[in-house]
Amino acid sequence: MKIYFLGTGTSQGIPVIGSSHFVCLSEDHKDKRLRVSVWIHEEDFSVVIDCGPDFRQQMLTSKCSHIDALLFTHEHADHTAGLDDIRPFYFKQGDIPVYGHQRVLANLAKRFDYIFEKENKYPGAPSVMPFEVVNNQNIQIKNQEIIPINAMHGNLQVFGYRIKDFVYLTDVKTIDTSELEKLKHIDVLVINALRFEPHNTHFNIEEAINFINLVQPKKAYLTHISHILGLHEEVQKQLPENVFLAYDNLEIEIK
Ligand SMILES: [Zn+2]
Repeated sequence: MKIYFLGTGTSQGIPVIGSSHFVCLSEDHKDKRLRVSVWIHEEDFSVVIDCGPDFRQQMLTSKCSHIDALLFTHEHADHTAGLDDIRPFYFKQGDIPVYGHQRVLANLAKRFDYIFEKENKYPGAPSVMPFEVVNNQNIQIKNQEIIPINAMHGNLQVFGYRIKDFVYLTDVKTIDTSELEKLKHIDVLVINALRFEPHNTHFNIEEAINFINLVQPKKAYLTHISHILGLHEEVQKQLPENVFLAYDNLEIEIK
């Protein structure tokens, strides 16, 4: 199974429009971060988590040409604003299965009413097949069992997902200890780490590392990164041995 990091940046992306911050001016490709998303794929299985405003570019760069499902973590725009760009997948595949919390599906149906519309639909508009994600109820997509993981983004509930021994969690600030059972014996954990300074709704580096130490995956990758964190090359040097800053277009393989 391959994990392709489609985007690893926080909500504005890096570079931030109009910014003269040194990270935004960096020419290192690892300092250029689209909005956060991953593509998980193997033969006959292809799932994308979140669908932010950079979705079109991410699908072109990664050469993703088929999606069995889109899984949503939550409804914030940096995770959902690209939904219209599922059109090429819809034209080829038909209705695209989308998974999310009931609240997230309701929110998407409001913001993208023409996509969820069933009657008098504009002919060029894409269509989705919504599936509600409920905590403690596994999802079956193709031959894979996916375990939803419940966490909190400040006051907002978010879902992370476990597929085999891979876990993707983003926009987490707190997580109930009862969820830790689902995170046992994992090879790779992806977890958000915004910057060094604390933030109300996101883990900072210290909180992310504490969480990694608690979960004890073989390896961890940090994502949802702000330009304020610093240069990729400099920050990577300060991290523990098994912790890596993810970067856009990084692809890793998991058994
Ligand atoms: Zn976010």
